[in-house]
Amino acid sequence: MDIIANFIDGHYQAPVDGGYLDNIESATGLTYGQIPDSDINDVDIAVTAAKKALPQWQAMPLEQRADVLYAIAQEIENRIDELALAEATDNGKPVSLARTIDIPRAAANFKFFAHACSQFASESHAMAGTAINYTLRQPVGIVGCISPWNLPLYLFTWKIAPALAAGNCVIAKPSEVTPKTAALLGEICQKAGLPAGVLNILHGQGAKVGQAICQHKLIKAISFTGGTATGAAIAQMLAPSFKKLSLELGGKNPALIFADCDFEQTVEQVFKASFANQGQICLCASRHYIERPIYEKFKQALIDKAKALQPNDPLLTETQMGAIVSKPHLDKVLNYIEIAKSQGGTILAGGEQVNISGRCQQGYFLQPTIIENLPNDARCNQEEIFGPVITLQVFDSDEEALVLANDSQYGLAATIWSNNLQRTHTLAEQLNTGIVWVNCWLLRDLRTPFGGMNNSGLGREGGLEAMRFFTESKNVCVKY
Ligand code: NDP
Repeated sequence: MDIIANFIDGHYQAPVDGGYLDNIESATGLTYGQIPDSDINDVDIAVTAAKKALPQWQAMPLEQRADVLYAIAQEIENRIDELALAEATDNGKPVSLARTIDIPRAAANFKFFAHACSQFASESHAMAGTAINYTLRQPVGIVGCISPWNLPLYLFTWKIAPALAAGNCVIAKPSEVTPKTAALLGEICQKAGLPAGVLNILHGQGAKVGQAICQHKLIKAISFTGGTATGAAIAQMLAPSFKKLSLELGGKNPALIFADCDFEQTVEQVFKASFANQGQICLCASRHYIERPIYEKFKQALIDKAKALQPNDPLLTETQMGAIVSKPHLDKVLNYIEIAKSQGGTILAGGEQVNISGRCQQGYFLQPTIIENLPNDARCNQEEIFGPVITLQVFDSDEEALVLANDSQYGLAATIWSNNLQRTHTLAEQLNTGIVWVNCWLLRDLRTPFGGMNNSGLGREGGLEAMRFFTESKNVCVKY
């Protein structure tokens, strides 16, 4: 039995009240470990450690701070196989995906912000002949970082790295569903020489330890990635405290596929955008609008690919599609497929749970699922499913595609597939999403602003946006 501990003040500790939760392997449905069921008492100890560590961390010369972050990145790379295996076991994602995307990106997050902190400058505003104003950007202090289960180490470090780079001490909580790589990050930080108390990692339930982190008076900012309902609850809870708050929430991302696209490449990319990580990426395309002249051909190409993709044991190196993260999540996704049927949807591919023999016979596997014949206001076109389920609709004009795409409570990401330059730029301007990819998906430059509009969140991560979030700006006006 793999028993995880909290990482507080530079070493591993059991939870104060001694309670633990089971950790279940998605591919087998079996409990394979336990994690602390932490509460407010553990948060208090972590905050005390962070408070003690803060002056030294803030006073550390930038080059030295950057060196520690580089060392963490290096140590992640050194342990890539172990981390990829842990991620695949915890989350159900194919180990090849964890090894090529998740874990390298976690290292890249630390490298990027190690560099960014040495490049982060502030403005000055001269009042000619009178005064000079300059802006100081100072660390917020102790900050909370809360992340979801879909890209466990990737998103956990996407918050922690800029928070540390900006000179803050961090209390971080990974999802209780996928705690393993976050737990290993403690060892990695020890080895890399991160001073004790600068990063504290607490495990447990969102509604218990997550909420205690959000509400702690000495924690001055919360960076949260997760579902829209949780984000709304946190926003409501924190409003009277005026804490800084960054919310990266759900999505229902449209793909606009035009007849003049590069057909083969687009099929390939759109399929990946639909089903990568079992469709459990906030940026996955889930509503597909296809221009009428290629609708039937494109649909058939997607169906062929979906039927050829068989979920399998995520720990096998050849597996391309793994398990859904948990039983409750599998049930939620299956329920949406039933809702689609009840609203008149036609299942073109998939739709069924998959039983795999051998060690994975009790695992949570689902076929890639494609649905058509649902109107845009159907629940499966409006609500986030967050699984390997996509819908197809036909359109006849750019205007119609735009209206359909923007008819959503969400606004995270959109993709446009077309070789018409004017169209792609025009639509990119008019789509109500924080990110638009043209003829590509998930092509990331870490300097760019990342986040969503409407119910997809508040604020932006990435590049200098993250450095700004994790600092307070102060104007100093000097009269001469
Ligand atoms: P949840 O909102 O359920 O949980 C996210 C994190 O918040 C978890 O660590 C969770 O802990 C914690 N949490 C839950 N309740 C509270 C609370 N009351 N106070 C503080 N923390 C709490 O999301 P999921 O983990 O299910 O992740 C899937 C969602 O994340 C999807 O909606 C997806 O779109 C979104 N997402 C958004 C991204 C973006 O960048 N916009 C990127 C990736 C995912 P616990 O696990 O214990 O419940």
